[in-house]
Amino acid sequence: MIDPLPSATASVELVRKGRRYYLPVYRPREVILDRGRGARVWDLDGREYVDFAAGIAVSALGHADPELVAALTAQAGKLWHTSNVFYSEPPLRLAEELVEASGFAARAFLCNSGAEANEAAIKLVRKWAAAQGRPPERRTLLSFAGSFHGRTLATVTATAQPKYQQGYEPLPAGFRYCDFNDFEQAAAALAQGDVAGVIVEPVQGEGGVTPAAPGFLAHLRALCDRHDALLVCDEIQAGMGRTGTLFAHVQDGVVPDIVTLAKALGAGFPVGAMLAGPKVAEAMQYGAHGTTFGGNPLAAAVARVALRRLRSAELLANVERQGRALRDGLARIDAELGVFAEVRGRGLMLGAVLREPYQGRAGDVLELALRHGLLLLQAGPDVLRFVPPLVLGDADVTEGLRRLREALAAFVRR
Ligand SMILES: *Cc1c(COP(=O)(O)O)cnc(C)c1O
Repeated sequence: MIDPLPSATASVELVRKGRRYYLPVYRPREVILDRGRGARVWDLDGREYVDFAAGIAVSALGHADPELVAALTAQAGKLWHTSNVFYSEPPLRLAEELVEASGFAARAFLCNSGAEANEAAIKLVRKWAAAQGRPPERRTLLSFAGSFHGRTLATVTATAQPKYQQGYEPLPAGFRYCDFNDFEQAAAALAQGDVAGVIVEPVQGEGGVTPAAPGFLAHLRALCDRHDALLVCDEIQAGMGRTGTLFAHVQDGVVPDIVTLAKALGAGFPVGAMLAGPKVAEAMQYGAHGTTFGGNPLAAAVARVALRRLRSAELLANVERQGRALRDGLARIDAELGVFAEVRGRGLMLGAVLREPYQGRAGDVLELALRHGLLLLQAGPDVLRFVPPLVLGDADVTEGLRRLREALAAFVRR
């Protein structure tokens, strides 16, 4: 085990509250993060961290961005909430801007989280299939091993990883799975004729930072067309510029029917969206779905700024540049320490797979990284996950890599 960080009494007290009062579904690192600026964060004890985690690929514009703060506070002084019984301006403008930026969508549904966006997508697939007169047994959703689509009962059922499902049975019916990047299995699954929708992450996030193989999404698109099914791209983690383009699927040259967004959409303010293409945009009519908080003016005001910034050529060029710098740095660390079997991913969504002798120990590396002033994530027990703010600069990458090297040097010495 790795010794905990020495912390002042106030931090120790707060950590104790977490252990005592939170439902014990999380096991956070034992620091109390207190404030941030750009790609740096400070804890309550004054220690500084380079942020390669961005709150799980959320804080794409870093912390305390002045323009985001201004948008949030300006809206906070005007109007917080209307419900969807009444219009307000920010979500109306956001919906138009998302539809326009997508290049494929006809309409948007705003919600509060990724799971809700995928839940809406699953319901939309079912409603669309129902409207075609297809019986319930022919409204199956197909998803892929290693995927992650959320924690509600429907989305956790779409999440083809047993560890997220165990104990929650009976799970909703109408879900099937096949192996990710297995062209033939996907073809066989759709040939059965019951599939109404296929949900896929262009780059699997939680499942290990695994990109779709070249041509795999195009293969799914062709299969969906042939068998009258919808293609749903879950871009909750890979979207909003993270992989180098505003939407990840454009790199695969496909036009999806539905795209879901959340995480970086609000750059740290909770908001999600489901974008619906012309084939499905009218399938849900008045009363068919809804949410109390979804698309509230505060979230939408922030997301509008995030969208404009995250689609800018300047930001996307930075994703390319720093993604390359991060890869190069990881290759140098590996050349010295021999810790990685593979580095994979796209843009600033990278996974470093630990070599055989170190497999299962990503958690230990994270703990050591924290001790060396670096916030890092894992994607399963064997993969270090790098999803930093997309605005991080040269000095952040250099310093983050230096701290990572120190942490890994200490790791291999153990
Ligand atoms: C995080 C994530 C979700 C779930 O989002 P929540 O906001 O946690 O509900 C769904 N799909 C993918 C790909 C994700 O990364």
